[in-house]
Order: sequence, then C-alpha cells, then structure tokens
Amino acid sequence: MAMIINGKEIAANVKREVAAEVEQLKAQGFEPGLAVVLVGDNPASRVYVNNKKKDCAEVGFASYEYTLPAETTEAQLLDLVAKLNADPKVNGILVQLPLPKHICEQTILHAISPSKDVDAFHPENVGRIMIGDYSFLPCTPAGVIEMLDSIGTEIAGKHCVVIGRSNIVGKPMAMLLLHRNGTVTICHSRTQNLAQQTKQADILIAAVGKADFVTADMVKPGAVVIDVGMNRNAEGKLVGDVAYDEVEKIASAITPVPGGVGPMTRAILMRNTLTAAKQQLLK
Ligand code: NAP
Repeated sequence: MAMIINGKEIAANVKREVAAEVEQLKAQGFEPGLAVVLVGDNPASRVYVNNKKKDCAEVGFASYEYTLPAETTEAQLLDLVAKLNADPKVNGILVQLPLPKHICEQTILHAISPSKDVDAFHPENVGRIMIGDYSFLPCTPAGVIEMLDSIGTEIAGKHCVVIGRSNIVGKPMAMLLLHRNGTVTICHSRTQNLAQQTKQADILIAAVGKADFVTADMVKPGAVVIDVGMNRNAEGKLVGDVAYDEVEKIASAITPVPGGVGPMTRAILMRNTLTAAKQQLLK
C-alpha cells in the first residue's frame, strides 16, 4: 500500500508561510494584490477564478476581479492588461485560460509584464526557467516538486519519467526535475512502447488528460507516482490520469485526485504573487 501524499495539507502549509509574510508586509503598510481577468462565462473558469479569490482572502492579498463579456475584443483586453501592468496596487496579473477563440492567447500572455506574470507563462519567464535562473515558479510543476520534497524523495540521480510535454505542465516539469539532477525522460503521444519507458521510472509523473491512463502494469514496484491529470469520468466524478486503485497497491507513494496536485498549483500561485510583490516593493 502506497503512502498517500496529501496535497491539501502541504498546500495549507505553503499558504500559511505566505500569509505570515503578507502580515509583515501589511504591518509596513503594503498590501499585495492579484488581478484576475475572466473573459466569457466558461463555468470551469468561473470555479477556478472563485478559488483564486478565496486563496487570496486566505493569505491576505487584495484580489481584483475583472469579468469581461465573451464579445470583448483582443484590443480591449490588451488595453486592460496595459492598465494592470501600470497599476502599482496590482502585483500579479492572471488572465484565466482558455480565452474565447477570437482572442490570441499568446498575444495576451506576452503583453503581461514579466514582473507581474505570476503564472510564469511569459517567454521571458519560460526562458528563465529553462536556464535555471528564475523567481516565478511554474505553478503545477513547482507544486509537484514541493510534494516530492515533503515526503523526502531524493530526485538527484533518480530516473524521472514525465508523460506529457505541454508548455504548462510537461516541459517545465521536466526542467525542474533536471535542475534537481534527476535523469529525465519525456514521453508523449508519439512515444513508442510507452509502458517500457514508464516502467523505468523511480518517479513517474502523469500529465496526459486521460482518465485511468496509467495502469499498474506501467509502473515499477516502489515508484513514486504523481498524478497531475484532472478529468471527469463517465459519472462526472473528478479523477486523475492514474488508475489509482490498482497503482496504489504497488507504488511507494502516490497523489490522490482530488486533493493532490490541484491544491498545490493554487498554493504556488499565491507564493508567486508574494514574490512579485516583494520584488516590486524593493524597486
Ligand atoms: P495537454 O496540453 O493536453 O497535454 C497532454 C500531453 O499528453 C501532450 O503532451 C500529449 O502528447 C500527451 N499525450 C496524450 N495522449 C497520450 C498518449 N496516448 N500517450 C502518451 N502521451 C500522450 O494537457 P496539459 O495542459 O499538460 O494537462 C494535462 C492534464 O493535467 C489535464 O488533465 C489537465 O486538466 C491537468 N492539469 C492539472 C493541473 C493541476 O493543477 N492539477 C494543472 C494543469 C493541468 P502530444 O504532445 O504528443 O500531443
């Protein structure tokens, strides 16, 4: 039976640390602020935005929500981003994805000032992550590293296999593991003999987006298994990419879904906003 890595608990610790620092900043008369921009009425995005506002309240940040109609033009959204870039009350800017089809996501993400880009999606921050000289952590991958650290998993020298190569999860995940001296294999939809690759993993990270994708026969006994996936199964229940019931019997440690990587992603966003605020305060 695997040890269950409790993302909720670890995330609560991260948020407690952030809250303690926010209290000190407030005592000096400085209240960090996060602006969250939502365009359109995607129900999942609405839930994410509400959660971010809740997290801001929990750690003591001011949160500024901008809800714009789905017909908002790219120019109007760029105009808002420019205003937020210039607003000293706003330390971090988050534009909730996906955006409506007529707005180019890249154009918007590239317009956010790199110093307020708390999602770390701007090419300048992505480049910094690549060379290992960064202050904004890619939220989900950094949350995974925090979980591995919390259970004392040594990454250096271990074979880490990441399934998925997206810009948001797979690629930055591989980079962070590499910076920690893991030996990293990245798998994707064109990988041949996937199970042969995943069975080599001491640390296996699934970021595919397919329910029950990682089965027990793909996992080396004793591996640490991190499930980034968030999928709805046939009953509408939130599940990960890993066939949890069978894999937890052979893994040494495993993250549940829900209550695993998800809360960590949110906690790291709060930490990034604090980092942004402190950097802007020191300018
Ligand atoms: P994505 O952009 O769709 O990427 C999925 C990756 O999986 C792609 O690289 C794809 O390969 C690969 N893949 C698909 N089918 C495969 C197969 N049969 N064999 C091997 N690889 C395969 O998704 P994402 O944004 O990285 O997200 C992945 C999952 O994590 C989703 O469920 C998402 O909801 C979840 N997620 C969770 C959090 C969190 O906080 N917990 C945060 C972000 C994302 P190709 O590149 O070849 O297409």
